[in-house]
Amino acid sequence: DIQFMNAGGVLFGVKDYVPALESYIAKYNADCNFFHNLVSVDGEAKKATFKVAKPETDPEMVTVDFDMMHVCPPQVAPDFIRVSPLADAAGWVDVDQATLRHKSFDNVWSLGDVMNAPNAKTAAAARKQAPVVADNIVADIAGRSPVAAYDGYGSCPLTVERGKIVLAEFGYGGVLKPSFPSFLVDGTKPTRAAWFLKEKMLPPIYWQAMLKGKEWMAKPEKIQIAAE
Ligand SMILES: Cc1cc2nc3c(=O)[nH]c(=O)nc-3n(C[C@H](O)[C@H](O)[C@H](O)COP(=O)(O)OP(=O)(O)OC[C@H]3O[C@@H](n4cnc5c(N)ncnc54)[C@H](O)[C@@H]3O)c2cc1C
Repeated sequence: DIQFMNAGGVLFGVKDYVPALESYIAKYNADCNFFHNLVSVDGEAKKATFKVAKPETDPEMVTVDFDMMHVCPPQVAPDFIRVSPLADAAGWVDVDQATLRHKSFDNVWSLGDVMNAPNAKTAAAARKQAPVVADNIVADIAGRSPVAAYDGYGSCPLTVERGKIVLAEFGYGGVLKPSFPSFLVDGTKPTRAAWFLKEKMLPPIYWQAMLKGKEWMAKPEKIQIAAE
């Protein structure tokens, strides 16, 4: 008996991937419970308590029995960032979402999970952000304006069963950004190709290419400058 609890109101934020995920909810006979926010766990008694805050209804507390629980904590920036002048009200480094330059401190650039661009926080996103920040710092040192823009790309390989993955790839505004043509990997469907990509191809791409700065597929978009 699988219960899926989610503090938000949707299964996944980009609608194109929802049907594939819903088919697995049905396959595993799982119940989806939205607006459920975990507030306490009694490990000894194996009980979890949720504050349920559905729109236009009074919040209520619900306690559920469990045998095994998998919890994903809320995302937060490290304390030394949260308390620093670099952070926005929510605690993330406050950057321009295209250039990744700090909004108030011109000599600060930020990338990865710690900053507040509205992308999905993934290593795949940081991979695309690195060359944007690098190009823009080089331009800044040369006295020029930022030259590269980040498009919000992020990727969530959603493992749905052994051997199959739904490879969600999208940018700002939920725009789909597939890396491969759909006959190779259709990201909206569970595929063995996506599993193969994650298991066999991404590790060498990470170790041999990404970490060594050799990345032909992560070239940033150039900012169009009217007159220069
Ligand atoms: C379970 C799980 C599965 C994931 N799966 C995927 C996936 O399949 N694909 C994908 O693309 N992404 C995935 N991600 C997301 C990915 O791991 C992150 O987006 C990525 O690691 C962010 O990189 P980062 O360098 O910005 O931050 P981090 O990797 O968090 O690096 C920050 C570093 O700063 C260090 N640090 C913190 N405070 C200090 C301090 N005071 N002084 C010095 N160092 C400090 C930390 O120890 C850490 O090493 C997953 C994340 C989780 C948790």
